[in-house]
Amino acid sequence: MELIRTIAEAHDLVEKIRLSGRLIGLVPTMGALHRGHLLLVDEIRDHVDVIIMSIFVNPLQFGPNEDFDRYPRTLDSDVELAETVGVDYIFCPDVSEMYAGNVKTRVVVADLPNHLCGLSRPGHFDGVTTVVTKLINILKPHIAIFGQKDMQQAIIIQKMVKDLSLDVKIMTLPTVREVDGLAMSSRNNFLSEADRHEAVKLFQSLNFAKQMIVTGERDLFLIVEGIKNFITTGNSAEIDYIGLVDTETLEDLTELKDGSSVLIALAVKFGKTRLIDNLTIKIPVFEHVV
Ligand code: AMP
Repeated sequence: MELIRTIAEAHDLVEKIRLSGRLIGLVPTMGALHRGHLLLVDEIRDHVDVIIMSIFVNPLQFGPNEDFDRYPRTLDSDVELAETVGVDYIFCPDVSEMYAGNVKTRVVVADLPNHLCGLSRPGHFDGVTTVVTKLINILKPHIAIFGQKDMQQAIIIQKMVKDLSLDVKIMTLPTVREVDGLAMSSRNNFLSEADRHEAVKLFQSLNFAKQMIVTGERDLFLIVEGIKNFITTGNSAEIDYIGLVDTETLEDLTELKDGSSVLIALAVKFGKTRLIDNLTIKIPVFEHVV
């Protein structure tokens, strides 16, 4: 496996790969790899000939009061892990390489960022779409894969690729979880032991909400309150948001229609650590007995 640190090197590499008729798969990450990242590699492997993983902690997607500085950077162990799952190249440029000069351009998807995480992280998704566009331009993948753990991100990127006619296929992977259900995340290591114990309530609360919905509850307020109480009882967890939204537009639902789907997404802070999770639920159709 080889490390590629500059855009010029990457251009040379991908030109050679493409000329030889091989398909390139891209797995974009910010490093601090865990099993979720490695399963993205597993998922894309059968569809491509060469796998490039990018590891880049992208400053554009962090707000001024967010955790850019303390985000874990573990390149040496990431390289070892990536090698075990058959990554061929790691693209790991410095910030000065990716954003040389006085960068003035952003790729902005309209509307979709104005919901869920975008509300508490203004500019975050513009940073994501800008860096993903750059990665696609630099690495020219035939396929790129993203995790459903960051469902809003995956939806925004799919829309961007479609709207801009980018020549890349987007795959997604369902959320990879710890044995107790907590969604794997590079930020989980920041949790205290007590908070780690409580954090399992995020996924449990989503399943609790699912249970409410499949057994007939249709009152959005009661469902949100149910999730909130489930998560915050007995700890100092702070709810950032709980959203029941349309799976395509991400707009808040005003009602739960039988037979449609709802995306329940949430973000919760344990101390300084903000975790997200989501679940898509198909709303059952009830036979109305007259
Ligand atoms: P990150 O390094 O957090 O920026 O994530 C890189 C990619 O891995 C993104 O597409 C994430 O959605 C995906 N990812 C992170 N955690 C998980 C997980 N637990 N399950 C599935 N995909 C994940």
